[in-house]
Parts: sequence; structure tokens; C-alpha cells
Amino acid sequence: MSFDSLGLDASILKAVADQGYTEPTPIQKASIPVIISGKDVIGVAQTGTGKTAAFTLPLLTKLVQSKNSTHQGRVRCLILAPTRELVVQIAENVAAYSRYSGATVATCYGGVSERPQIAALRRGCDFLIATPGRLLDLGGQGHGDFSAVEYLVLDEADRMLDMGFLPAINTIVRALPKERQTLMFSATLSREIETLTKQYQREPQLIEVGRRSNPAETVTQLLYECPGALKQVMLHHLLKDEALKMVLVFARTKHGADRICRKLQGEDISCAAIHANRSQSQRQRALQAFKNNEIRVLVATDIASRGIDVDGISHVFNFDFPDQLEDYVHRIGRTGRALATGTAITFVTREDLGELRRLERIVGKHLHCGKLQGFDYTQQAPPRTPEDFQRHQDPRAGAHNSEREGRPQGGRHGGFRASQGNYRPFGRPGTRRQGGPK
Ligand code: AMP
Repeated sequence: MSFDSLGLDASILKAVADQGYTEPTPIQKASIPVIISGKDVIGVAQTGTGKTAAFTLPLLTKLVQSKNSTHQGRVRCLILAPTRELVVQIAENVAAYSRYSGATVATCYGGVSERPQIAALRRGCDFLIATPGRLLDLGGQGHGDFSAVEYLVLDEADRMLDMGFLPAINTIVRALPKERQTLMFSATLSREIETLTKQYQREPQLIEVGRRSNPAETVTQLLYECPGALKQVMLHHLLKDEALKMVLVFARTKHGADRICRKLQGEDISCAAIHANRSQSQRQRALQAFKNNEIRVLVATDIASRGIDVDGISHVFNFDFPDQLEDYVHRIGRTGRALATGTAITFVTREDLGELRRLERIVGKHLHCGKLQGFDYTQQAPPRTPEDFQRHQDPRAGAHNSEREGRPQGGRHGGFRASQGNYRPFGRPGTRRQGGPK
């Protein structure tokens, strides 16, 4: 089957040929005609299946062939995606596919200056690709005209929900016209996704291609008993094995992540930490160094790890048990992505044992926890600094909540700013913003 039979506009077909695509992927074959026909779609597909072209090509066709051929200062198609990286990637694809049709593309995401994004919103565009947090900020300030949005895409919807973007998405979608076509793409179908579907879509057609396997079944899970005071020693002990090439370590708190990182660096293990106290550029640098194998270990908190999309991670360590047990599956799913040959190692203290039983219920299987062979459990814990001593208590006891990263509650501005103009797309001034990280 070729692209010609899918109903795409000739200018788009030409751009697709330039990309060297000869045949549509299964998600493209299934989605393109349905989207062109105007139906809402739930696409269950993961990154790498060609899903970006599966929704951008038909939407471009519809925009190019529509009677309202210009955006007239407004946004015509809004695509929401969880991370800045994904936003940039989608924008690059749309720019390439619209080479001969001249559709305009703008992006909005956090961690960079707002000014060019505000200017782009003022100009209007055919495609706006945005993370929910930054868009909510800018929309709350009165920027952008969303009164003529004809198409809405929620890409990686499951990840956006994981990242705490639901309140931001709700506010944004409420500001859009009800008459629109809504497409939702997600790697998994959960109850939350179904709820979103019922709220935002009309009789959507389900298109499912290559459902992602549950990492809890495909990743080797090793759980070792470990007294809290020996966790760092056990980590160093295991890292002596050179087979642990690309290692992601999860810590429960920002300070904990920094402490683990400092101690690994003290042993000449190349390492960086990412958490909410790090700037976007520091996180990007750390992530890039990890991707390029310039550092062997990346230490992360759960929130910071949401944007990590790195192939080739050989081992994931749960240095601390996750605060929210559901995060366990997300954490271990960071390894074994392509070939499902990853290993997840969890340190289990006596205080974690109750949680371990609950975790077994979540992953639906028995998780054997035993002693690590060859590790000296009788050794003295290394002397602690006063800081260590203070923070080494079980955070679940609640003593150190303040250093925990926690679920995202609000953004930099904490609430909507009053708009300068009359048009205020995303809510009333003074409404408290509740959204995820940008
Ligand atoms: P995605 O799943 O959208 O992230 O796409 C994964 C990669 O596949 C991207 O590099 C696309 O450029 C590429 N791609 C998308 N559709 C096709 C196709 N029909 N033939 C070959 N490559 C494609």
C-alpha cells in the first residue's frame, strides 16, 4: 500500500516523498483516512510507530483543503504534548511535511524565554504545539486566540496525566470551541484515559497498534534486603560490575539524589543528578551527557524522571522505594525499552516491607526479596555527616516532607495573571493554577 491511496493532499504527498517514506506504517494506514473523514480518534501507539505523521499528515491535508485557508491571527490546530523534546520533535515534523503547503507552526514550552512564544501567539498559526504548563501560563496571561481551534490533539496523553497535567489540560480544553475534532494518542489505555475520552471526544474510533508490554513482566526485577545505612555501600558494591553500563538511580528526595550523586563522584563514578531544583538547562545537560555515555549514572527523583526518554538504560535502581507505589512500574519501564532486557534493582529496608506487599498487589506478582550474595551485611555503616544523620530517617515518617519533590501543585507564577486585554482564554484572573511542570 502506498501513501497515494490514503486521501492526502498532493502537496503533503510530495513532502512525504521528500522524507523518503515509501509506505505508511500500520498506525498511519489505519488513522489517516479516519482522521480525514472528520472522526475523533483514540490511537493506542507508542513513539517510534510513526504516530506523529499519523495525525499531522491528515490534519495538514484538512487545513490546506479547508475553506478558511488562513489562520487570521488565531490558532487552528492545537497539539498538546508532555515534554519540550516531544514538542520540538513534532514541530520539526510538521515543518517538514508542510514544506509545499506553507502551513505555519509555533511552539510553546517551559524553560526558555516566553517572549518569542508570546509574539508567535499574537501572530496566530495553523499549528500550535505546546506543553500544557507553559500554554496555561501564557493563555492565563491573555495571550493567544483559541476561539477558532478546529482540531485538538492530545499526544502521549497517558504521560501527560502521569506528569500531573490533568488540571492544566482541563482548563485549556474548556477554553476551546466545542465544535472541533479531537484526537488522543496514548501508549496505554487506562481508566483515566477513558474518562478523558468521554469528556473530550465524540464517538471516537479506537485504533490500536502494537500495545506496549507491561514492564513489570518483561524487566528482570531483583529486590535486595538492605539496611538504610548500607544502601550507598550496596550501590557502590553493585556498580563494581562493569556490565552496569547505563544506570538510572531513583531517589525519593532532591537532597537524597544530590547526596547519592556526590558520594558516587567521590568514588570516581561519573554521575549527575536531576530534580526539580535543577534548571531546565542543567537537566538537559545532564540528560545529554547520560545519553552520550559521558556519565555512567544518572540519579533522579520521580518527577524529574518523567521527561527522560532514553534508550539503552541497562539498569534501574530503586535506591528508595517510590513514594507512590504506582511509580514503580514507570521507574522500571525506563529500562528494557527496545529489547526488554533491562534489570531493575530495588533496595528494601525493614520499613519498606509493608509497602512491598502492596507493591506485589499492584504489579500482580510475587516479588522475591532476599539477601545480596557476596555483600557483607555485618560491615559497619560508613560514618555519617550531621546532614546524613538528619535526613536518613524514613521520609515516610513525615519528618522531611519539605525536602521531597512531591507531585506538581503549581507553576512559577502560582496563579493566572490578570490579562492586559479583553480576551482571556484560560480562566478568570485570580483563579489558582493547578498544573504540572513545564
Ligand atoms: P514517531 O513514532 O512519530 O516518533 O516516528 C518515528 C520515526 O519514524 C520518525 O523518525 C519518522 O520520521 C519516521 N517515520 C514516520 N513515518 C514513516 C514512514 N511511513 N516510513 C518511514 N519512516 C517513517
